[in-house]
Amino acid sequence: MENDPEITYDWSLEMMARYPFLEDSKRYIKHQGPGLKELVEDRVWDMVRIRGKERVMQAIEHGEINEVPMSDDLDMEMELFSYPIARILVSCVDDNYLTNRYALGESEKFLKILSEEPLENTMNIGEELGIEGTAENDQIKVYFIDYLENTEHLKSTQWKLTNQDLRHGYIYLDIDKYRRLLKESLFQRIVKELPRPVNDELLDIFSSQIKDIEKFLQEKRKDYGEVEFGEVDSEKFPPCIKKMLGLQKEGVNLSHEARFAMTSFLHNIGLSVDEILSLFSESPDFREDLALYQIEHITGEISGTEYTMPSCSTMRTNGICFEPDNLCGAEWMKHPLTYYAYKKKKDFKKQKKTEDEE
Ligand code: SF4
Repeated sequence: MENDPEITYDWSLEMMARYPFLEDSKRYIKHQGPGLKELVEDRVWDMVRIRGKERVMQAIEHGEINEVPMSDDLDMEMELFSYPIARILVSCVDDNYLTNRYALGESEKFLKILSEEPLENTMNIGEELGIEGTAENDQIKVYFIDYLENTEHLKSTQWKLTNQDLRHGYIYLDIDKYRRLLKESLFQRIVKELPRPVNDELLDIFSSQIKDIEKFLQEKRKDYGEVEFGEVDSEKFPPCIKKMLGLQKEGVNLSHEARFAMTSFLHNIGLSVDEILSLFSESPDFREDLALYQIEHITGEISGTEYTMPSCSTMRTNGICFEPDNLCGAEWMKHPLTYYAYKKKKDFKKQKKTEDEE
């Protein structure tokens, strides 16, 4: 494969391999990359297919994709060309959880390598991601609309507009926070772009890789799903909690209020920290250290204060009283824990009556 001398690139091949979402990277793949037939049939591209699948598997397992050492142009091309392969595989599997998990893996890898970049490269990459920054003293100023557009899914208080240094329409961020904003932008971009439409030919060509990924995904889900609830009966959970647990499984990024409500509910009905952690590990943006900290805080192991689940009226105010049913409409129904206790008690009485009759 000969490089086309007519085409010039602003970024080096190494940078394109490190940041395969750049416009130059896409052009390089288009003009210098192998065709589908070559890619599938030529032994020379074995490593690209292997690395493409590895990107997806690592994202599923760790929520992060490892960097690979690159010593020459061939290594760099292998790494660069493996990116579209990973995207094809994610598109073929077409699973919401996988897409989110993969986006997390790519964006975590991105953040890690971006931290080693000089400021100028970081700013140029930021521009490509749609968040143009200007360096001023030790800070980067970002137009507030760009900031808002890229932080709508970041729910913690540190990202709230009211907590930012806002001056004349610009938000001033330190470099680490600017990098994290770029990471979020890449995450959202991948989630929006995938899955791409795939045809039968692609499904056929990558059938064995697809099967392996689906199997691995299934196993991971089984690991996460095997929570021993003991006496806890999830069938009797109130609709709001069922809905939030379902959304979490689907890969939807829940608000801080929703996570707080779920954690305190599960703790209040008797689940251990490990059991709650295991349930939350189904979320695509799951980070064990952060989740554990949040859970231990709410359950009182860190803060010393044991929190109680919010009442129905607070849940309504926070916009997380999802799909209330007839029982929710009862005049005396003021709390999701009351809902659960009522259903459990009713079930107990029914069981007792059956035993007495026997
Ligand atoms: S009324 Fe209460 S229990 Fe029912 S869905 Fe709303 S918050 Fe949950």
